Amino acid sequence: MNKVRTRFAPSPTGYMHIGNLRTALFTYIIAKKNGGDFILRIEDTDRERYVEGATQVIYDTLRECGLNWDEGPDIGGPVGPYIQSERMGMFKQYAEQLVEKGEAYYCFCDKERLDELKAVQEASGVTPMYDRHCRNLSKEEVEQKLKEGIPYVIRQKVPLEGTTTFHDELYGDITVENSTLDDQILIKTDGLPTYNFANVVDDHLMGITHVVRGNEYLSSAPKYNLLYKAFGWEVPIYIHVEHIMKDKQHKLSKRDGDASYQDLMKKGYLKDAVLNYIALLGWAPKGENEIFSLDDLIEEFDISGISKSPAIFDPAKLKAINAVYIKKMSDEEFAHAAEPYIRQTVKKEDADIAFIASLLKPRTEIFTDIPEQVDFIDSLPDYDTSLYCHKKMKTNEENSLASLKEILPVLEGVDDWTEENIHEALFELIAKLGVKNGIVLWPLRVALSGKSFTPGGGIEICRILGKEESLARVREGIAKLS
Ligand code: GLU
Repeated sequence: MNKVRTRFAPSPTGYMHIGNLRTALFTYIIAKKNGGDFILRIEDTDRERYVEGATQVIYDTLRECGLNWDEGPDIGGPVGPYIQSERMGMFKQYAEQLVEKGEAYYCFCDKERLDELKAVQEASGVTPMYDRHCRNLSKEEVEQKLKEGIPYVIRQKVPLEGTTTFHDELYGDITVENSTLDDQILIKTDGLPTYNFANVVDDHLMGITHVVRGNEYLSSAPKYNLLYKAFGWEVPIYIHVEHIMKDKQHKLSKRDGDASYQDLMKKGYLKDAVLNYIALLGWAPKGENEIFSLDDLIEEFDISGISKSPAIFDPAKLKAINAVYIKKMSDEEFAHAAEPYIRQTVKKEDADIAFIASLLKPRTEIFTDIPEQVDFIDSLPDYDTSLYCHKKMKTNEENSLASLKEILPVLEGVDDWTEENIHEALFELIAKLGVKNGIVLWPLRVALSGKSFTPGGGIEICRILGKEESLARVREGIAKLS
């Protein structure tokens, strides 16, 4: 058996759609699971879509995700070049081979004729197709026209009758009537290949055994198959994967803001969580577990688990998976990753970032939630006194005011401002008053933060703010409530 060789063949668009990243991931996994090679080929021949710097985005994304290629434009390999635009010169000879075999032909029809043909076909309601005008030119006629320098294209000679069947690992056998297939152009008047032709020749020359691609290519597969057949080449295994949808009707598109790897990174997701989640968007594991590292995926992945129905992108699930990955981080790793987000709202130089991060870790699903959670640290936000009323804690404005008045001298009396000492002093007070903890701690938290949700409670916030600022805020609370 041939060594498994898979390829990821992105067009450089300037961003990595998560559907494409998923294709790369599956392609990579299939190669690695089978001890094969993962090849990167940049399909940059559509100059209208070409974006400067876009190839770098592909390299960076794949590398960041650990999808390292065995052969590719930057590292070379035995079947390069790996950038399609650098291969342009080699396709015409393959089309000429097909002409010789009687599987393709020169077509000299000019644009005027083709436009007219199309207009007539459209007017009579038939799908526009080339009418095979040049298909039966004699050898002499062709030679004469070539001698005269008439511009030409090379078209594929699709069988006029019968059917073509191709096999997809997920969809099984798909059969189409040959009469519905166009004599597609292989080589254009400028001597360069069409995308479909280059794609097939490249996959063959690169020894690709498995092709994973979006199912927008499903309808082109019969034409691809006919080309392989015309050449007498072995057809690769096809796996067409479904789209990722925003909802039942709409594909997840760039303007949705969640569609690219870059969008998700900007939103503060972890790359391992993203990779894990997008694997689940098109593939169902056998068991209950849904948390997989790249190595786990290579172990667990099975082509038969790839889904045939479109997956709907669910930000809540991605968040939940992200939270799992955050919990797996060490405290140091988390603090390091969280610091820039904490620093968006906490500017005080002496802020104890490690301590703040330790409070944030158990409650953070995504890093971009952080700045808003700690925005009370530098300055107390203006808050409504209704925050003091908490049903479960049995607090209201009245007993909160009473508590804050008790808290103030107690905190003033804490000389060595450590969490332990603050804790001890407050719990002494709670015991003395004979009240539930919340009667004291809830008003304290509100007075210190102006919020009802905070990382840590009153005692931890005291530590973060320092003595002076904590006392000032308690006094402000008393003033507000009085
Ligand atoms: N260059 C194509 C794309 O980015 C890939 C086609 C293929 O995988 O065959 O959509």
